[in-house]
Amino acid sequence: MHHHEDMRDDEQASEESFLSQFGRSAAQTEFFSPVPEGYVPGRTKFVAVFGTVMSGLGKGIFSASLAKLMKDKGLQVAPIKLEGYLNIDSGTLNPYRHGEVFVLDDGTECDMDLGTYERLLDQNLTRRNFCTSGQIYSEILERERQGGYLGRDVQMIPHVTGEVKRRLRALAMDGGANGSQADLVFIEVGGTVGDFENGFYIEALRELAFEEGPGSFCNVALTYILEPKTLGEQKSKAAQLGVKRLMEFGIQPHILALRASNPVVGSAREKIAMFSNVPEERVFSMHDRESIYTIPEAMRAEGLDRQVLSILDLHGGVDQVAEDKARKDWSNYASGITAERDTALNIGILGKYTALRDAYASIDKAIEHAGTHLSASVQTQWIDVSDVTVETIDEALQGLDLHGVIVPGGFGERGIEGKIAAVKHVREQGIPFLGICLGFQMAVIEFARHAAGMEGAHSTEFVSDSPNVVISELPDQKAIEGLGGTMRLGGQDVSVTPGTLASFLLGGVDHVRERFRHRYEVEPERIADLEKAGLVFSGRHPEQPIMQILELPRDVHPYFIGAQFHPELTSRPLAPQPMFMGLVAAGILRADPDRVDDPRLQSWLMPAQDASDAGHRVSSPSANPEG
Ligand code: GLN
Repeated sequence: MHHHEDMRDDEQASEESFLSQFGRSAAQTEFFSPVPEGYVPGRTKFVAVFGTVMSGLGKGIFSASLAKLMKDKGLQVAPIKLEGYLNIDSGTLNPYRHGEVFVLDDGTECDMDLGTYERLLDQNLTRRNFCTSGQIYSEILERERQGGYLGRDVQMIPHVTGEVKRRLRALAMDGGANGSQADLVFIEVGGTVGDFENGFYIEALRELAFEEGPGSFCNVALTYILEPKTLGEQKSKAAQLGVKRLMEFGIQPHILALRASNPVVGSAREKIAMFSNVPEERVFSMHDRESIYTIPEAMRAEGLDRQVLSILDLHGGVDQVAEDKARKDWSNYASGITAERDTALNIGILGKYTALRDAYASIDKAIEHAGTHLSASVQTQWIDVSDVTVETIDEALQGLDLHGVIVPGGFGERGIEGKIAAVKHVREQGIPFLGICLGFQMAVIEFARHAAGMEGAHSTEFVSDSPNVVISELPDQKAIEGLGGTMRLGGQDVSVTPGTLASFLLGGVDHVRERFRHRYEVEPERIADLEKAGLVFSGRHPEQPIMQILELPRDVHPYFIGAQFHPELTSRPLAPQPMFMGLVAAGILRADPDRVDDPRLQSWLMPAQDASDAGHRVSSPSANPEG
C-alpha cells in the first residue's frame, strides 16, 4: 500500500512539473503543442524559407537580405536556422569540408550562415538562433529519461515537431535586438525539401502555421531555373517538381524566388507561377549578382518587401523615416562595392587547404568591408606554405608582390614551420601583417626565436619538449583535459593599452569586446621576457595574464599586429573591424605611397613618431558591434 502511495506522489510531481513547463493545454490534448507561458498567438509573424531542386541556392543570403529589409522598416526581426544534421553544434565540424565555424558572442559554434545574418542585420545572435536536429533529439531523449512524458510513447509527431514549435515561439517572444519581442521570425530550413532529415521541420512549420492562423505565415520557396547551354533557354520543370514536393507536405508557398544565372523571364516564369498557384507578381527572379550586399536593394526594387508586408498584413508597422535613413546608409556602402577603386592590393592569406574560401569566409568578408571603405580592390592570394622553411621563405614570397599578409586561425601541426617562416619574412621586410589566433601564436613563436633569442621556442600544442615554451595551454583548459575538452569560447573583454597601435585603431577606447575560440595562450611566465625583447602586448584580459593583442612599435614596423581573438567575426559592412582597416590602410600605403594624405586613411594610419595622437576618434565601430 505504502509503495503504491509513493508512486502516486511521484506521478503527481512529474505531472506538475510537466504542466508548469508546457502548459495545461499540452497535457489535455492528444497533440503536443507546447506554448511558452505568456505567448500571444498571432502577435509575431513568420517567414519560412524552403529550398528545392538543389542545395547551395543561397537560402541564408536570401533570408538574411529579406530580414534586413524588414528590420530597416523598423520591425524587430529574429532569424533562425534549422539544421538537419545531428551534431549539437558546428564545433567538431571540419571547416575545410563544411565551411568556417562561426562563433557567436555567447560562445555558440555554429554554421557560417549565422555570420551572414549578423553582418546583414548588424545584430548579435545567440544559441537560440541556431537549431540542429541533434539539439532537438537530445533534449527530447533527456526529457524522456526524466519521465517528462507522463508514460506516453515519445513520437516524431507530436513530440519532436512540438519541440520545434516551442523553440520558434520562444524565439518570437524575445528574439529581437536586445531581447525585445520579434515582429517577424525568419526561419531558414536547412537542406532541400524532400531530404529525409529535415522532414520533421517542414511538418512542424505546417502545424505552426495552422495553429497560428491565417495571415501568420509567409512561405517562400527558393528554387532553381535551369538554363542548359545546349538549349539556350530557361527550363522550369525541375523547379515545378521541387515546389510540388513542398506542396505534398501541405505547404502552399506564397512567394517563389527563382535562383538562376540570368534574369528569369517569359514562359519559365509564367509556367512555374501557374503550376505552383502563386500569382506572377509574387514570383521573383533572384539571379546571380555581383555582390550579396546589392541583393536587399534589388529585392526592394522588385517589390518583394511589399508583397511580404501584404501577405502578413504588416504595412501599418513600417517606420518610413527609419527606412529612408537605413537605405541611405546601406546604399552608400553598396555603391562603394561596385565603384572603381583607387588602389589594387595583394593580400596573402596563409592557409592549409588554400583553395577553400569557405573555411575563411569571415576573413574574406572583413577584407571586403575594409577594402570598400578605403577604396582598395583587394586581391586575396591563398598561399600554402606547408613545405616552406626559413631558408626558402624569401624566395617563395618575394615574387608575389604582397601588400599585406594574414596568418589565420587553425589547429593541427601541418604548415606550422612555414607560417613561422612567413612571419619572419613579413617582420623583416616591413610587410603589413595581421595574425589571427593561431597566427597570433605563430608571431609570438617567431619573435621569441628570432628576436628574443629563445632558441627552439614553441607551443605545447605542437611539441612537448621545447626548451622555450612560449605558448601553452590555458589553465582552465588544463583542468578540463580528458573530459572531452572544450575551448575558451565567445565574447570576452579586452583591455587596451593607451598609446599603442591597437588603441589608435580602436579610437582610444580602453576596452573592446571580441570573440575567442582557443585552447592555448601566451605562456604567462615568458611575457616579461618577450616584452623586454621589444614585443608589445597591447590588449590583455582585464584581470588574468592572458595576452590578447600583440604588436610591434610603429617605428620598428609599419603594421604588425596580432589578435588571440577572431577580429573577422565582428566585422560588419557599416562597422568594419579596425584591425582589418589598419591592415588594408597600411597595404594601400605600401602599394600607393601617394595616398598618404588621403583623408579616408587618416584614422587607420598611425603616425610613425607621435603616438600621443591616439584617441582622436571618439568612438570605434567595433567597440559596440550591436550598432
Ligand atoms: N590552435 C590554437 C589554440 O587552440 C589556435 C586556435 C585558433 O586559431 N582558433 O589556441
